[in-house]
Amino acid sequence: MFETTLLKEKENQILDFLFYKKEPMKAGDIADRMKIPHSTLNSVLKRLAASETIKWEKYGSVSLTPAGYETAAHLSNHHFIIEHFLKKTLDLSDATAHDSAIHLAGRVDCELIDAICDKFGLSKSKIQANLCDQRDYSHTEEFPESF
Ligand SMILES: [Zn+2]
Ligand SMILES: [Zn+2]
Repeated sequence: MFETTLLKEKENQILDFLFYKKEPMKAGDIADRMKIPHSTLNSVLKRLAASETIKWEKYGSVSLTPAGYETAAHLSNHHFIIEHFLKKTLDLSDATAHDSAIHLAGRVDCELIDAICDKFGLSKSKIQANLCDQRDYSHTEEFPESF
């Protein structure tokens, strides 16, 4: 089973974003870019740091650990493939497909992802960075204050 299954959606979204950015980012920049209240982001980052998927230097930058990179790459791959599937089968808009894919990425098991890849002739490799063009998160709804 996919190791991020138990991670929460916000955690998944941060990992996916850091994977996309491919460079360390200041927490404040992540909060601004993803439109997450700073206090909410801080608690998400604390949980990610505790799970050793990110390294977060207080008042410094946030970066993926090697294990975090592996998880984020896997998660992003699920995201891209699910998004592709939703657009092709349900004709969802890019933004809706992206939001749903982010939501589902950590919950869908690898067997289902493989089946989608077989159906659509997609590569099962972990890097599918060309399949999502909705990474600015500008349309993402505000995060609730607590979750
Ligand atoms: Zn997407
Ligand atoms: Zn998988």
